Amino acid sequence: MLLGPPGAGKGTQAQYLISYFNIVQISTGDMLRAAVKNNTSLGQTVKQVMNSGALVSDDIMIALVKSRIAEPDCQHGFLFDGFPRTIAQADALRDEKIRLDHVMNIQVDDTEIIRRLSSRWVHLSSGRVYTHPGVDTITHEPLVQRIDDQEDTVRERLAVYRAQTSPLLDYYQTWAESGDNNAPRYHCISGIGEPEIVFERMMTVLKN
Ligand code: AMP
Repeated sequence: MLLGPPGAGKGTQAQYLISYFNIVQISTGDMLRAAVKNNTSLGQTVKQVMNSGALVSDDIMIALVKSRIAEPDCQHGFLFDGFPRTIAQADALRDEKIRLDHVMNIQVDDTEIIRRLSSRWVHLSSGRVYTHPGVDTITHEPLVQRIDDQEDTVRERLAVYRAQTSPLLDYYQTWAESGDNNAPRYHCISGIGEPEIVFERMMTVLKN
């Protein structure tokens, strides 16, 4: 599981991790954006909330993730990117006894986040992230800027992160230190620097 503020590099690191460990990425943000793009009823329900920078309701998110991890491709392991975002979502995973091996908190300060997000270009269908406009290197489809990457919305997303998601850091750290055998291991790494360097930091803590 990857935790950290928007712009910490969760999506980028997820790409490295899923290919290294041959596991499935579960990015709830990507799933919701696909629903909006395809104008499904879920997409219609969540569009405004997402554009405002607020969180989609726990009920919707928990149902979405439960059905996703029941799919056969998740049997051999998966990586959460952007889920859970609230204590209620984390409790739902615990109640369902979904086994987690590692929780990785990627730390980046606010100034750097605002700088990164305002120069972020994404390939919508894969979630691949770039720092310049242009086309995706694999599909050659055009890159777009996310509506919620505009500065005011970024500030709102950071405020939401602080209020609702950052308590999860304590939640997983406390659980890891409790001696419970079912607790995932908790790691904290710096998200500053080139993506390859951040990935090396992750691999170092995962191997220890
Ligand atoms: P992300 O791409 O992870 O930054 O997610 C983009 C937006 O999707 C968020 O700002 C929320 O509006 C929504 N979202 C994604 N994941 C969740 C989640 N686990 N709980 C609630 N809302 C979410």
